[in-house]
Amino acid sequence: MDLGLTNKVALVTASSKGLGRACAEALAAEGAKVAICARNEADLRRTAEEISKITGTDILAVTADMTKPEDINRLVEKTAAYFGALHILVTNAGGPPGGDFFDFDDAAWLSAFELSMMSAVRLIRAAVPHMRAAKWGRVINITSLSVKEPLAPLVLSNATRPSVHGLAKTLANQLGKDGITVNNIMPGYTRTDRIVEYGEAVAKQTGKSVEEVFGDMGKPVPVGRIGEPGELGALAAFLSSEKAAYISGASIPVDGGAIRAAF
Ligand code: NAP
Repeated sequence: MDLGLTNKVALVTASSKGLGRACAEALAAEGAKVAICARNEADLRRTAEEISKITGTDILAVTADMTKPEDINRLVEKTAAYFGALHILVTNAGGPPGGDFFDFDDAAWLSAFELSMMSAVRLIRAAVPHMRAAKWGRVINITSLSVKEPLAPLVLSNATRPSVHGLAKTLANQLGKDGITVNNIMPGYTRTDRIVEYGEAVAKQTGKSVEEVFGDMGKPVPVGRIGEPGELGALAAFLSSEKAAYISGASIPVDGGAIRAAF
């Protein structure tokens, strides 16, 4: 299937590793021109070189922190200036810290909201004028399965990420007439650095191997395993494509069936 992504310009944030990197790689493999960002410059440059080598495309790497409004504006404008357009935005950022409700003060709550919600607000606000100019656009927010099924130790994530879905539905209604779709992808447990670190910590506590820990995490999942980043990247590329023009305002899990709700 030709996804019609050749020469489309995409910005994927928080993308030197994990799910962001997988989205950037999938888009680049389909012929899109891709900008990536992260805070650690050395990791970012290495990833840009690796994706470039694998896909044969030019990757723009911009060091930027998604909690800083000035970094977000600089990132969006640099991407549009470098490639001459901006058609696709994949919003992603690190997750808020885990913990119980009584662990967090107001400052922690506000930081979580800045990270999860305001990064998406600021990115979309800066990117949509470029999409409107092209009369074509795709916004995809990476959130979490915790939006549909809150996870016990992640109260900050459980409470702040749903706001991104409210925003996406509102914008899907507003921007459809401009040829812009807005969707969310909700990952389940996926083998990224973040989850590998968690797996290593559990392995240390339990005396199991990391693969055994991942095996245990995959047992309650209907497909019987945790996910691979490329499985989410493939959906991001499809939602970014010409073929997905009639999918908007949707929230799609990539979780092996882990969310038990019917809809
Ligand atoms: P990861 O493997 O730890 O990768 C995170 C990436 O984001 C890195 O490139 C990191 O680079 C970058 N990053 C983190 N904070 C940033 C910031 N403030 N500004 C710019 N870049 C930033 O994480 P992941 O597993 O891919 O997770 C991505 C998102 O999906 C997170 O919000 C996570 O909570 C969510 N999620 C993940 C899973 C899962 O199982 N993996 C499940 C549900 C939801 P730097 O550190 O250099 O900035």
